[in-house]
Amino acid sequence: MIEDKNQQRTQLSDLGEFGLIDHLTKNFNINHKSTIKGIGDDAAVLNFDKNKIVVTTDLLVEGVHFDLSYMPLKHLGYKAVVVNLSDVYAMNAQATQVTVSIAVSNRFPLEALEDLYAGIETAAKIYNIDVVGGDTTSSNKGLLISVTAIGEVEANNEVYRNGAKPNDLLVVSGDLGAAYTGLQILEREKEVHKVNPNNQPDLEPYSYVIERQLKPEARKDIIKLLQDLDVKPTSMIDISDGLSSEIIHICKQSKVGCDLYEAKIPLDPQVISTCEEFNIDSTTVALNGGEDYELLFTISQEDFPKIKANPNLSVIGFMKEENAGMHLVTRADTKIPIEAQGWKNFNA
Ligand code: ADP
Ligand code: MG
Repeated sequence: MIEDKNQQRTQLSDLGEFGLIDHLTKNFNINHKSTIKGIGDDAAVLNFDKNKIVVTTDLLVEGVHFDLSYMPLKHLGYKAVVVNLSDVYAMNAQATQVTVSIAVSNRFPLEALEDLYAGIETAAKIYNIDVVGGDTTSSNKGLLISVTAIGEVEANNEVYRNGAKPNDLLVVSGDLGAAYTGLQILEREKEVHKVNPNNQPDLEPYSYVIERQLKPEARKDIIKLLQDLDVKPTSMIDISDGLSSEIIHICKQSKVGCDLYEAKIPLDPQVISTCEEFNIDSTTVALNGGEDYELLFTISQEDFPKIKANPNLSVIGFMKEENAGMHLVTRADTKIPIEAQGWKNFNA
């Protein structure tokens, strides 16, 4: 075909299931010595010697977790991998392999799946992971993508949600609330586009928040940084559902309380200005927005000097005895109980 690649529509049925799998997976290389056998047999074979293995999985459903009207398939493939790697890093482990399963309707041509797999391939390259298997099947309507990530960690180096102690410091990487803010922009532009399809919006002022929504990164670098600084967190979790919800997970599982300082929550200037534009409170967005994929962890106070000068890390709170409860200490120095509110309920 001499048409533009995006215009090509090769029917999936032209390839058949095995042709499709071969086509989509032909570029995947094996880089880890722990991968003994990757794609091509009934199962992958892995060997981690003495290390512990972590396994995590996520299922993304079209219309529930992503909207293809503003999410390019390449980004979706990238994000589907990254959100799983984030869970591996949150265990203080190194991600090594993923499997990728898709259910796809015949409304998608081969070229769409090529885009999806280009994103998966990019993530695999950037994070140095082997794609070692998956499953391919049809769906009646939408697209489903499920990624399973596997990682390794030296025995006793893994970090759970349940190890926080009273007097520990609560630390977060990066900044919060941007992915949710970006989603608000994309939803708004989608509505504008429905009314006026020729409108070319200037999204430059929102570039950071949109990128955080469409192309999130997992904080592999923070795991390395903590190792270099010789800091082992006492507890850790990644921020997928919003800061409030993750703090509650750590506190409940560790049986501790927490004071979170509103003034310390790291926000990008673009989040602040966009929240002003939408007339929403940036602290609320940071607490409940979700999809930031930053790492939230606790450290013992003696480790504070090692992290305090680092621009990637912010101390945002202080762990207390369980009976002290979990509170947000506002800029006005009032205390508000921290409540669970996953981002899915955020609009309600
Ligand atoms: P089986 O019938 O044993 O499930 P498949 O024919 O589904 O085997 O898969 C053949 C090989 O291709 C396996 O190694 C499987 O893990 C891999 N595979 C299948 N679908 C995908 C996919 N969407 N992405 C990556 N690997 C895949
Ligand atoms: Mg199969």
